[in-house]
Amino acid sequence: MEITEIVIEGDTPGISWRLPVFHFKGSEPAAPKIYIQAALHANELPGTALLHFLCQKLQKADGEGAILGDITVVPQANPIGAAQWHYGEMEGRFDLGTRTNFNRDFPLISIRDRDSLVENLDRYRASERLKRQLIHMALGADLVLDLHCDDESLQYAYIDEAFWPEAADLAAALNMDAVLLSDGESSAFEEAVSFAWKYAVPGEKKSHFADNLSVTVELRGQRDVYPDMARSDAEGLWRFLAARGIVRDDSVQLLEFKGPATPLDNIEMIRAPQSGTVLFHRTIGERVAAGDLLATIITRPGMADGSIDIHAPQAGLIVTRISDRLVHRRGDLMKIASDKPSAAGRKPGTLED
Ligand SMILES: [Zn+2]
Repeated sequence: MEITEIVIEGDTPGISWRLPVFHFKGSEPAAPKIYIQAALHANELPGTALLHFLCQKLQKADGEGAILGDITVVPQANPIGAAQWHYGEMEGRFDLGTRTNFNRDFPLISIRDRDSLVENLDRYRASERLKRQLIHMALGADLVLDLHCDDESLQYAYIDEAFWPEAADLAAALNMDAVLLSDGESSAFEEAVSFAWKYAVPGEKKSHFADNLSVTVELRGQRDVYPDMARSDAEGLWRFLAARGIVRDDSVQLLEFKGPATPLDNIEMIRAPQSGTVLFHRTIGERVAAGDLLATIITRPGMADGSIDIHAPQAGLIVTRISDRLVHRRGDLMKIASDKPSAAGRKPGTLED
């Protein structure tokens, strides 16, 4: 194992960030190469905990000659966001300097222009230099996992239809509760990586990949950071690495993924019609029927008609829920994976991560 460090010079004098990168060299040139990062949204730490334990396992495997494909691990991908504490709270999702989501605005390029990502980096501000170096590393691999988490959430992943159903082994290995099949092209990390592969030959879009994979994994909720959970998730990721021939472990037998694989069109984003205090009646992991009472919003406390009930538009599985109890008008409350397309429209790309 080799640990290198990327130094991101700040945009003001006297500031720089250091980003450790773990490299495990594979012994089989034909084995797939994988890139795994966590905490691109700096306050989403289940993946960082997972990778801490996975690195220990990989280091042991390295000593036993069991690493077959090159593995690159960035356990904490966003030191800039991790430093953004203000008024006692952390902002890990948006760059305070530009109000840009740390998981948006990744350059959309063809893989053949990969080297251009890191040319003349001095031209870019620190957050852009970070993004360019992360995606440059990712595009050196065949498989890319970006580990995030939701607010209160089951474990699920956004997987582009171009990688499905081959990616069901990842869902099985990690024991995911659901997969959300996406079809869009946003500038999120995962989608910028797949964009580069899809347009390897500019103008000729490739729409299916058996040997590549770029996925956003949502490792449950922000507070789901516990030793046993992180160790068991690390075991899950290890099983995926074994199944893909990146590490040698003949004892691994993957079961079939039995959870729902739901197109994004079938996700009911439950939104608040008005601002108020949220009282949830249902929680993540529950199946609801059409018309079930999901939440009550107290819009005018104390008034006889001061609350609104929110009902399920159709049957489905509650995948996520917000943790805040004050909601603004049109604020998200829940994501429900349903059997039929939602009547509400949506923008292309991952829902909001
Ligand atoms: Zn995230």
